[in-house]
Amino acid sequence: MASIASSSTQNGTAAQPARYALAEAILGKEAFLQTNTAKILVVGAGGIGCELLKNLVLTGFGNIEIIDLDTIDLSNLNRQFLFQKQHIKKPKSIVAKQTASSFNPLVNIVAHHANIKEPRFGVSYFQGFDLVLNALDNLDARRWVNKMCVASGVPLLESGTTGFRGQVQPIRPGLTECYDCQPKETPKTFPVCTIRSTPSTPIHCIVWAKSWLFTQLFGADDETEEDELDKAVADGEDAQEIDSLRKEAREMRDIRAALVEAAKQGDQQRVRSVVERIFNKVYKNDIERLLGMEEMWTHRPVKPVPLVFQDAVNGVSAAGSENAQPEGAPAIQADAGPSADAATKSQPPQNASTLKDQRTLSLQDNVELFLSSTSALAVRAAADLSNPLSFDKDDDDALDFVTCTSNLRSIVYHIDRKTRFQVKQMAGNIIPAIASTNAIIAGMLVLQALHILSGKWDKTRFITLTRGSDRYISGFPPAQPNPKCGVCQDVYIPIEVSSLTEVTLADVVDRVAKEALGMDEEDLVVYDGARILADPDFEDNLEKSLTEMGLQQGSILTITDEDQRLQAVNVVISVGGTESGEKIKIAAKDVKKPQPRYVESKADEDDSDDDDIVAEVAEADVPAKATAAASVASKTVAGTKRSRPDEEGSPDQTTLQSSSAVTPDKKQKLQQDGANADSAIVFD
Ligand SMILES: [Zn+2]
Repeated sequence: MASIASSSTQNGTAAQPARYALAEAILGKEAFLQTNTAKILVVGAGGIGCELLKNLVLTGFGNIEIIDLDTIDLSNLNRQFLFQKQHIKKPKSIVAKQTASSFNPLVNIVAHHANIKEPRFGVSYFQGFDLVLNALDNLDARRWVNKMCVASGVPLLESGTTGFRGQVQPIRPGLTECYDCQPKETPKTFPVCTIRSTPSTPIHCIVWAKSWLFTQLFGADDETEEDELDKAVADGEDAQEIDSLRKEAREMRDIRAALVEAAKQGDQQRVRSVVERIFNKVYKNDIERLLGMEEMWTHRPVKPVPLVFQDAVNGVSAAGSENAQPEGAPAIQADAGPSADAATKSQPPQNASTLKDQRTLSLQDNVELFLSSTSALAVRAAADLSNPLSFDKDDDDALDFVTCTSNLRSIVYHIDRKTRFQVKQMAGNIIPAIASTNAIIAGMLVLQALHILSGKWDKTRFITLTRGSDRYISGFPPAQPNPKCGVCQDVYIPIEVSSLTEVTLADVVDRVAKEALGMDEEDLVVYDGARILADPDFEDNLEKSLTEMGLQQGSILTITDEDQRLQAVNVVISVGGTESGEKIKIAAKDVKKPQPRYVESKADEDDSDDDDIVAEVAEADVPAKATAAASVASKTVAGTKRSRPDEEGSPDQTTLQSSSAVTPDKKQKLQQDGANADSAIVFD
């Protein structure tokens, strides 16, 4: 390869170098030229991004910009093949450029180690490209790029993988479905009471073990706990229940002090007795207290059954048979609650798997693991009080602790137990990223890109990779836009202002909405994202300058009529020299006026509630819905309902709060990722 590279460099531009001969023969002269001269933006240099960049440079794409804000981590190296061990901690985009350039030195690659949401990558930046390819791992950035492409009218290829599943979606703004035309599941916080009092799935127990119990005993003093409980009351969760949770928390602080003290003294016997006290508190006393709140159980068919340490240590539970269940078996369903005489002696697990991590642990196993892991963690915590522990799925003691404590809770609540391996996946929110899936998707992206660049939109396909059906790879023509979409059914007006400090909000409203769009009869509301800047009853801001309103290059102002009868108008601001001396210049050839908003007919209304949307999503066999992850994250629907344009699903607080070690890089990523940096749904 090196010899080809050097000979073609020496040849300069004289002839299409030998390396392009095949590409030219396959694509045809014209299509090859389009490919070679097109300007391509690749967003993301991770799992798909690395494969994609390699494909692009080898196919003959000549002008590529790549952007990623991440740095390389050891765990990337099993699939992000542009990176090697010596690149760890270096920016992904920069190293990806270096490695890919060595495959084909004729390619011009510009790399940005940056966040795509920075103002400098505004609509005018996007307009400089013929095609944008998304290789992102989070919903928030995907939705952002989708919106920028819609606003700038640039075609987008959206992609994602989850395990063996994957997809490629071609998006032609205004003519095909955009990324936000279909609702997306967003991870959601679990209500406090579900985690703390009424779990019903394994993930509830794992979140409890990892985010609550672990933190209570070994983590940083959780000052947010009281706030969280206050907020839960404000949110309408059961006040009496929250009150007793506060009491529980206080007891827990006492126990923690005793545990640390015993571990400091190195008194094994005392440590064991405190660990026993913890066991009886969380699996017996707290459960008995909950059972005393009768109204809590009136609508729940199955009540929890307390575990007593002395019985549990002998493998005896009042919850009925606790034989290891076969993989995926439903939880034990005790119709009328458990009866005391159902107590049974534990038997060895039926699961024949001998791998320690993949075996469902018996009650006794879990109790033993509880004793050993809690003691080990207590000793570590006591050794350095200034350095509280935080959960790390790769820390064996921590993972043992979360495995056994969540399983014991599952036994109490008649929920499926999970193996250590499963707990690791769920607690670490890992859906395995698979190199070959990324490779297939990256290949599909290039095929679709070739169709788009040669103008053959009729040949583009929405590609899905699914397992369990006859075809692993399927393709469908892209669908029509959803008339209810809150992104691509809006109007976008790019403007150039002479100065951000001189032009006022009123100038923009008058020039764009009233003059250009004829909305002078309407009562107007002006938003910056979800923030209302002005409405008919609040005009104080109108005379302020754009700078004073916190707007900058690339900001998008949204203007709607008060009744939201018309499509929303998004004014995309850039700063430019307006030669004519105008303060504001409309930078679009034709101005599309807002049309009456799509109104649902009666028939539509009948099936427009959220439940139905979720049901449709579940039935549609599209990987983006990440049904594999649905058991991990509860669902909300975002996208079609027009709330405010930038409204996002909230991050999984239960998970986030436990991670005390947030590096600046991670923090920046969390800010970019918004919805799911640390959530269950991972597209890589
Ligand atoms: Zn749309």
